[in-house]
Amino acid sequence: MPTAPTSGQPLPRIVVVGTGGTIAGSSAATTTKRYQAGVLGVADLLAAVPSLAEVAEIRCEQLYQIDSVEMDLPRQLDLARAVSRLAAEDDVDAVVVTHGTDTLEETAYALHLLVDTDKPVVVVGAMRPADAAGADGPGNLLAAVRVAAHPTSRGLGALVVVGEEIHSARDVRKEHTSRVDAFGSLTGPLGELAGGVPRYAHIPARRHGAATAVTLAAIDQPAAVEVLVTRAELPPQIVDAVVASGARGIVHAGPGAGNVPERVAAALDRARSAGVVVVRSSRVAWGTVARGDAFDDDGHDFVAAADLGPYKARVLLALALTITDDPARLQQIFDTH
Ligand code: ASP
Repeated sequence: MPTAPTSGQPLPRIVVVGTGGTIAGSSAATTTKRYQAGVLGVADLLAAVPSLAEVAEIRCEQLYQIDSVEMDLPRQLDLARAVSRLAAEDDVDAVVVTHGTDTLEETAYALHLLVDTDKPVVVVGAMRPADAAGADGPGNLLAAVRVAAHPTSRGLGALVVVGEEIHSARDVRKEHTSRVDAFGSLTGPLGELAGGVPRYAHIPARRHGAATAVTLAAIDQPAAVEVLVTRAELPPQIVDAVVASGARGIVHAGPGAGNVPERVAAALDRARSAGVVVVRSSRVAWGTVARGDAFDDDGHDFVAAADLGPYKARVLLALALTITDDPARLQQIFDTH
């Protein structure tokens, strides 16, 4: 039965790393836009929630102050290095990352794959800027710190906290453009906060942290990988242009269960012949692209992304291509990560 820290016990020591986003956004800071993301420092976000001091001993670091649409793999790798460094410190019990919601799922998945620690790593954002009526940032931040502070959150990889829900970084997706409860996972959250205490119903089934095929210290440069979303009449020359740009991998997000129109399949075959790895994914919000199901992955030498969406498939492929470009090995990685 999970228990909250009791009085008399030292509080867990948590570092909150700020990267920007709407959680640090302000309407007052701009006259040209509805609001501007990433203008408040993480220290200001913490100061707005005095009750955090009852949950944990907190210090903060400001790594970026950006709208998360500007997030990229080099920045995600630097963040993973920063979180790993902090998690390795003896006087740090957990790390919380504040982040914009737009690309939060990709960053959280990169941390899930790359940060080798059993200590809780929690990523949190907000849909409304800090100075909006009904801002969700303060409540989400408090919830994230409560999750990070609790011993049952150890060993689960990176977690994403939204409202009372605790999601696995692998499975969570932003699924609404504006609602406060904008996030969901195919099989639901891992657990939820009740009475300020996390209650877990599931644990992540796929590899994370030290168990992954990829190692942060060994990655200098992630591979160039493009996502191509097929729609009716996608000109196949777009595939050729992506190959000409130097991409080493293409994630194809097809309709339905990852279907590929014949002309696009022919262009992807040309890409494959040029050594580019092709991962077959779906543009549909939820569901599995099963290997060999409705498409001859063996015949085309493609990789099936299973239930990993195209944007997370890009993260996994960009990292995995640093260790292998063998489609069979990559399929194993997609099947287990
Ligand atoms: N554009 C913002 C960002 O991702 C949206 C948000 O945080 O909700 O940084």
